[in-house]
Amino acid sequence: TPQSRIRNFSIVAHIDHGKSTLADRLIQLTGTVAERDMKEQMLDAMDIERERGITIKANTVRIDYPAKDGHTYVLNLIDTPGHVDFAYEVSRSMRAVEGSLLVVDATQGVEAQTLANVYTAIEADHEIVPVLNKIDLPASDPERVKTQIEDVIGIDASEAVEISAKTGLGIPDVLEAIVKRLPPPHGGDPDAPLKAMLVDSKYDQYLGVICIVRIVDGTLKKGDRIRMMKTGGTYDVDDVGIYRPAMTGVDSLGPGEIGYLNASIKQVRDTRVGDTITHERKPCDKALPGFKPSIPVVFCGLFPVDTSDFEDMRDAIEKLALNDASFSFEMETSAALGFGFRCGFLGLLHLEVIRDRIEREYNIELITTAPSVVYHVHMRDGSQHDLHNPADMPDMSKISHIEEPRIKATILVPDDYLGDVLKLCQDRRGLQMDLTYVGGRAMAVYDLPLNEVVFDFYDRLKSVTKGYASFDYEITGYREDNLVKMQVLVNDEPVDALSMMVHRDRAEMRGRAMCAKLKDLIPRQMFKIPIQAAIGGKVIARETLSAMRKDVTAKCYGGDATRKKKLLEKQKAGKKKMRQFGKVDIPQEAFISALKMD
Ligand code: GDP
Ligand code: MG
Repeated sequence: TPQSRIRNFSIVAHIDHGKSTLADRLIQLTGTVAERDMKEQMLDAMDIERERGITIKANTVRIDYPAKDGHTYVLNLIDTPGHVDFAYEVSRSMRAVEGSLLVVDATQGVEAQTLANVYTAIEADHEIVPVLNKIDLPASDPERVKTQIEDVIGIDASEAVEISAKTGLGIPDVLEAIVKRLPPPHGGDPDAPLKAMLVDSKYDQYLGVICIVRIVDGTLKKGDRIRMMKTGGTYDVDDVGIYRPAMTGVDSLGPGEIGYLNASIKQVRDTRVGDTITHERKPCDKALPGFKPSIPVVFCGLFPVDTSDFEDMRDAIEKLALNDASFSFEMETSAALGFGFRCGFLGLLHLEVIRDRIEREYNIELITTAPSVVYHVHMRDGSQHDLHNPADMPDMSKISHIEEPRIKATILVPDDYLGDVLKLCQDRRGLQMDLTYVGGRAMAVYDLPLNEVVFDFYDRLKSVTKGYASFDYEITGYREDNLVKMQVLVNDEPVDALSMMVHRDRAEMRGRAMCAKLKDLIPRQMFKIPIQAAIGGKVIARETLSAMRKDVTAKCYGGDATRKKKLLEKQKAGKKKMRQFGKVDIPQEAFISALKMD
């Protein structure tokens, strides 16, 4: 296909504004997929993606579109992850295309991720076509939303396409706009040495690693011997093809085209997204500008509830890591929880997705310890450590100072809830950077410690705004603050899995809340149990759990044997989910609940 007949684009939108539905309609209207094979959310491949309505890996689909000008165009849509945890992946795949459809729900208007995603598209030099979706709904107000797009984002929305991705209204106009208003790929030379961008890679159980590639110069064919310029790896290409969205082999891919290659690469870790692919024999002289790899920012311990699951868990984690280069892990032993893994994630959603998959796909029940960010610990002797786990905190007397990661958070919220949002940010040590109003909505920009956001900030934000706020963040850098490690002692034994880093000024409050929660969560035992929070040797909060008789069958006066048996079984099942600390059983949910702040 000549480049003038190619259009490469992505769709950017806030979650639930209709990105997947629009992609489905585009695929359907162009007959890319036979009607009987059409299912909802075609591009969201993994079960977990479908269920949660999120995209984790970049997906691509090629659509042939006979335009009104009589020519047939090749449209390549790259679907990118929409969630803040994967912002980095989004910015990478955006570099593989020239334009974006900016989908905004006309009943809602511009939200935090609309902004974040559209700015990424603007940074990637995209031409942008605004699309107002859900105009079938009586509550939609396209005119107001157009004004909002112009005021807040600063792009012309006078020619926004008004559609209903649900009913199909306006979809032909979207296709025409793609052809007329988005630019074709520029400058590729089919006779030059091969230069292709590795957009993303994923693991397929049967085929091994599949790479999504965007050809810049030259031609890629089956049988070619290729070299990855950054990693240096060389491979024989077994297959090249395109997604329709089913994998379809083609003879070759030329400049401007997007497709896949399969070259018996063993693991995703052997590929670097953003790497330049060229021919081994006739390489291009200059690689494309690369990308920094995405690095994990949130760490937590994952331990099997049943210690005999440890080997299965190792197996599960290794398999998942094959397909996810941004997920890191190393073995960890905890005095209380036994053998497990310290794992690093791009964010909380990423953490939840991986944890869910281990539990569901591998049937292993897990205990998750408090998520922690990465601190920079500067020692008096001048050395510096990255601290991933509060349990590894060096002796306070040897530390000069500690730095923590900070974020820039953007929150959009209807005026009515603004007060609650500002209070929440203040409570979490936030510094206000900006506050502006646009048509009944406020946009608050805060500088916040990541540590205060990783645990339950988003849940709290949703609850104080009844779900009306939207939120997005980026990490801005590290700053020194008065940070200490708070330990929790149950029956005078430190429970390492409950240790956390906190700001000194908030330690008492957090300690008290934690002890009170634990008092409710830990079942009474035959003896009295002190529950304490401490910094160094100094106790800062304390509760006492009073003693109780534990024999649950005592009140079943002899008689009913089956009832007695049931009760004992129930108690046994309950026990499986507990962990013993010295002489005390702590139920699994305590590890999560105790850390939530209200
Ligand atoms: P995504 O998160 O941006 O991919 O959004 P989805 O495509 O999953 O859509 C979110 C919800 O909005 C789904 O329940 C869709 O059925 C619904 N939806 C999408 N487009 C329209 C539309 O044009 N009109 C109406 N009424 N609902 C829509
Ligand atoms: Mg979607």
